[in-house]
Amino acid sequence: MKVCKDVVECIGATPIIRLSKIVPESFEPEIWAKMEFTNPTGSVKDRMAYYMIKKAMEKGELKPGMTLVVPTTGNTGIAFSALGSVLGFKVLIVIPEEMSAERFMLMRLFGADFYFTPGGESDADKALEIAKKLSAENPDKYYFFDQWGDEANVEAHYETTGKEILDQIGCPKAFVAEIGTGGTLMGIAKRLKEECRDVIVAGAEPAECPVAAGWFKTGKPGPWGRHEIEGVGDGFIPDIVMRYKHLLDDFVTVTSDEAINMARLIARKEGLPVGISSGANVVAAIKLAQEHRLKKGDKVVTILPDYAARYFSTRLFKKQREIASRKQILEELDI
Ligand code: PMP
Repeated sequence: MKVCKDVVECIGATPIIRLSKIVPESFEPEIWAKMEFTNPTGSVKDRMAYYMIKKAMEKGELKPGMTLVVPTTGNTGIAFSALGSVLGFKVLIVIPEEMSAERFMLMRLFGADFYFTPGGESDADKALEIAKKLSAENPDKYYFFDQWGDEANVEAHYETTGKEILDQIGCPKAFVAEIGTGGTLMGIAKRLKEECRDVIVAGAEPAECPVAAGWFKTGKPGPWGRHEIEGVGDGFIPDIVMRYKHLLDDFVTVTSDEAINMARLIARKEGLPVGISSGANVVAAIKLAQEHRLKKGDKVVTILPDYAARYFSTRLFKKQREIASRKQILEELDI
């Protein structure tokens, strides 16, 4: 049982759960999933946000009074906003304006400010460029965090998530995760490849935007496209993925429809309120097990990165995605 002297100490040490009811009885391999939505701000991103801030402070580059500038498509922004509150930093979130409203509302609850960039999930590169530019113009005031390149993102998962998986269930036969920054995938992969001979590591991406999957399979980036799996498939190949490409054995793609249907099935069959990328990860785990003909007792591990309540305004709940004006939503908030 956790006893925390502050929110930072409550990050990590998440449960791992076997998902046995979303697959037919004839499906013999075991699907295991790390319940990352049980982190304090409700997503996997608490781990790396804390590591990135800690490393920047240890290097002496992030100083009291500076503002944390965070390009993000959502969960990273929520984690940084919460940590900014507890550690005493202002936070400026640079975010595509079409991300789900729940995300902005949570960030505002923690007191963050916003800079909106055009587009949705697969336009994260624009937010990254603008955040970089803003910080370069104000180097004494702004501290820029590049989650797609920062090694502390990988370290967080190597030192915590990957180690926890080994402590909880030992060596799995395979591990797969959708790529946002690739930090979760590569940090865990690095740990598993060190400890587990023959573990199969696969990346996953939205089938509508298979940029890294295309590169892995053909050497050329796949086509860019819009999709609905928030938090992953950012529309470019992150530096972290290139840095650790030698750890990858395979790549799987999952459509937005498959991801949404699986997220609903996980709620209905397993009683777990997960987000859309969790559905995508579980579909990817099943596909990987089938492709590699895994057998009875073989464990495939994946991640449940966040929870369903972050998606009330998306197609997980609604027939059609409603893209309201984010600025209007923020103006109406009484916080
Ligand atoms: N799912 C969701 C909902 C996320 O917010 C993220 C983080 N962007 C991921 C998956 C992927 O994690 P990572 O950035 O470590 O690849």
